Amino acid sequence: MTAQGGGTTGARLLLRRLRALMAEGGTAEERLQRIVRTIAAGMVAEVCSAYVMRPGEVLELFATEGLKLEAVHRTRLRVGEGLVGDIASHARPLALADAQTHPNFAYRPETGEEIYRSLMGVPILRGGRVIGVLVVQNRTARQYTEEEIEALETTAMVVAELIASGDLVPRAETRSTEGIGLLPTRLEGLSLCPGLAIGRAVLHKQRPSLVEIVAENPVRERERLASAVAGLHRALDDLLQTAEHSGGGEHVDILEAYRMFAEDRGWLARLDEAIASGLSAEGAVLKVQNDARVRMSQVVDPYLRERLSDLDELADRLLRHLAGAAAAIALPEKAVVVARTLGPAELLEFDRKRLRAIILEEGSPTAHVAIVARALDLPMIGRVEGALARIEERDRVIVDADNGQAFIRPGDDIEEKVAESMALKAHRRAVFASVRELPSVSRDGVALSLSINAGLLIDMQHLAASGADGVGLYRTEIAFMVRDNFPDVAQQTEFYRRIYEQAAGKPVIFRTLDVGGDKVLPYWPRSGEENPAIGWRALRIALDLPTLLRQQARALIAAAAGRPLDMMFPMIATAAEFTAARRIVDIEVARARQRGIKAPEPLRVGAMLEVPSLIWELPSLLAEADFVSVGSNDLAQFFFASDRGNPRLADRYDPLSPAMLLALSEVARQCAAARRPLSVCGEMASKPIEAMALLGVGIGSLSMAPPAIGPVKLMVRSLELDPLRNYMSGLIHHPHASIRQELMAYARDHGVTF
Ligand code: PEP
Ligand code: MG
Repeated sequence: MTAQGGGTTGARLLLRRLRALMAEGGTAEERLQRIVRTIAAGMVAEVCSAYVMRPGEVLELFATEGLKLEAVHRTRLRVGEGLVGDIASHARPLALADAQTHPNFAYRPETGEEIYRSLMGVPILRGGRVIGVLVVQNRTARQYTEEEIEALETTAMVVAELIASGDLVPRAETRSTEGIGLLPTRLEGLSLCPGLAIGRAVLHKQRPSLVEIVAENPVRERERLASAVAGLHRALDDLLQTAEHSGGGEHVDILEAYRMFAEDRGWLARLDEAIASGLSAEGAVLKVQNDARVRMSQVVDPYLRERLSDLDELADRLLRHLAGAAAAIALPEKAVVVARTLGPAELLEFDRKRLRAIILEEGSPTAHVAIVARALDLPMIGRVEGALARIEERDRVIVDADNGQAFIRPGDDIEEKVAESMALKAHRRAVFASVRELPSVSRDGVALSLSINAGLLIDMQHLAASGADGVGLYRTEIAFMVRDNFPDVAQQTEFYRRIYEQAAGKPVIFRTLDVGGDKVLPYWPRSGEENPAIGWRALRIALDLPTLLRQQARALIAAAAGRPLDMMFPMIATAAEFTAARRIVDIEVARARQRGIKAPEPLRVGAMLEVPSLIWELPSLLAEADFVSVGSNDLAQFFFASDRGNPRLADRYDPLSPAMLLALSEVARQCAAARRPLSVCGEMASKPIEAMALLGVGIGSLSMAPPAIGPVKLMVRSLELDPLRNYMSGLIHHPHASIRQELMAYARDHGVTF
């Protein structure tokens, strides 16, 4: 029979013969030898060889018909080396009439293969993974047909079974080689922290294999549990200490909350009960964890879910302590950690220098782990379904967290593209770095001010790194959100004092507590409002519960300790609200003076312009406020009555509309007339074209996400402001819904770069 011309029947016959061979006696190697002989005959080839993948990405010749037998186990090729390595690395067949002229041909004298001209090889695949390569060779320059390639691919499946049986090489080898050879896949998820990274997968499966769930001796199990719990406490304490030493910040709060959980009596009592019911210590932890997971699946409240997932992480850690394997996973270089979920403490335990990115099957933007990832500037994607099943240990992985996707075992082309865009990013970073120390002055000599927005202590490092003039918006609520209880005045004072310290003399504008809406304080009851974005939030809460604002003002005054203090209120709808809030601050300043505490010098109290109604009250507002900062995210949301978080509306209204820009130019005009500084601190200021438009309508101070400083400064330094202002004074009366195109064209024609 020949598969050559014999078509599918020939292939089926060959397959039947091979199956019969598989059932025969002898060692696995002897069977493999018979198999290659049969394939050679079936395919009318002088040579048939089977290479098996060994640890270290090496393909080893295991059996051959036609090549010299002494080459068996001697000939070894790296994945990617020679034609066999090429087939494995691309996981695709190769058919060459003249193999030796192929650029990848690697001559191996021990095989005696120089007399064979043509070669056809296919990958031996199992579970999507390359576990070997099957090759036939002929003396003549044979043109192998598509059908023959298919026939060889089918026979390779039989060889795969033999390899995977574990008789030929230990099964573990073929299950978990180096991850090379699995077919490329793209997985989608949700971006939790943007960024781009290339690395190797490290699977984080916490579950140790359990031997005994049931135990006879509860006394002994209690002892084991107690010592594991003690170990867990010690480990958390160590972690806390390191976090404190490395600058502290919110990590410390998160870890402290965590340790509190580890001491939670309810949790410990439930574990104890489970042991009493006859479970081993491990069985008890699993049971309590399972119960929590069941509850978790029913809970919708994000706060409670967060707490339950903290408990879930603790249970995993406790299991590791019980198994005596409590040490953190040692990461290889350039690691991409893949996990179902990760706790913030676990994330902090990894060696940041080796960690490139994180892929989670669960996770949400408000999860603690996501907050920590953003603080560490670590690309992270979440909600990646089946990540642990679809990614193998040590697989090559590209995490494109900017677009919420990951490429697993990417092809060379994708990897090249990503490497290119990483290089481009690095180049752009270098360009931005080159203007870091230069002033933000337009080409026609107008000095402008560029600041960063911050919300975590760790963000403060961007102040010096970006060369920004100061912090134009410090979102104080973030520190409240990552804690487990409301910080008292002393704790707040300490926190603000550290911000001052890190600002090293540059100005910081503290925005008072902006909670409510989507910013939930874990320890506050949820209001269940129908429209939380326009509900009881921000300054509205502060005016109803003035103690909150008083305490915050008291802490800020104490932290300023006689230095300048800039603060502003969020979500003001009427000038009267501003006045009322300012009075509360004044009371605190007077109180400080009475107690001999130095009052801030100067104290500047500003208003955030986020609600359109305030635009028509500017004269009264400006009589009271020291400065105005436009929160363009909320302003646009209320201006267009369009939910800022709803992706379906994201492109419907352009803030670069004549309506919005007209409103802003009117605000700029009135602020200038009243000599009150005006800035914009919403997302608009972070995008060069939007920022250019803001400058064009007369706003000279912008506060933005730290990575935007470079591009916006480039834009400023390449811009002639006066002609732009002239041009825009006409453009904002344009009848279109957006003037973005016109502004882009203007930038292009006038050499504005970013
Ligand atoms: C804004 O609304 O534009 C703003 C800066 O505040 P936040 O994004 O924190 O609501
Ligand atoms: Mg806002």
